[in-house]
Amino acid sequence: MSNKAALLPLILEKVFEKYSASNIDNNLGDLFVELNALLTARVVKAALNLLDHQCIVVYHNIPKTKQVAQVNESSSKIIWLFPHVNYCTCTYFQEQVLGAKDPSTSSYTCEHVLALRLAHMLKSDKVRFEELAFSKLKVLLSNFLPEDNHQSD
Ligand SMILES: [Zn+2]
Repeated sequence: MSNKAALLPLILEKVFEKYSASNIDNNLGDLFVELNALLTARVVKAALNLLDHQCIVVYHNIPKTKQVAQVNESSSKIIWLFPHVNYCTCTYFQEQVLGAKDPSTSSYTCEHVLALRLAHMLKSDKVRFEELAFSKLKVLLSNFLPEDNHQSD
C-alpha cells in the first residue's frame, strides 16, 4: 500500500509550515531534529553541507515567477532543480527515492531538493540569486524540455 508514502510529504509540509511561521532562528535545532527523523540524518547533513559551501545558484526572471536552481556539488557535478519540485537527477534520488524496491525503507527526497527547500525557507544568504533576462532563462529552461528536434546518431 502507498499510504505511508503519501503521509510523509504531508507531515513534512506541516514541519516546514510550523517552522517557517516565525522566529525560525530560535528553533533551528528542533527543525533539524524533526527533519532528521523524517529524512534521515545523512540527507539533512548533506543538505546543510551544500548550503555551507554555497553550492546553490538560483536563476530567475525579474518578477521571480520563473526560477531554476543550479547545485554545484563539485566542478564536475552540476545538478539542476526546479524550486518546489521534488525531483532530482542525482544517483541517490534515482536509486533510493524512485528505485527503492522496498517502500518501507525508501527515501522521500535527496539532499539537493532539501537544501534548496531549506534555503528558501531560511531565506539563506548562502544561496546566490541571479537575475536573468527572460530570453536567457528560456534558453536555460529549454534544456529540460524533451528534445524533439534531437538529431540522433
Ligand atoms: Zn539530488
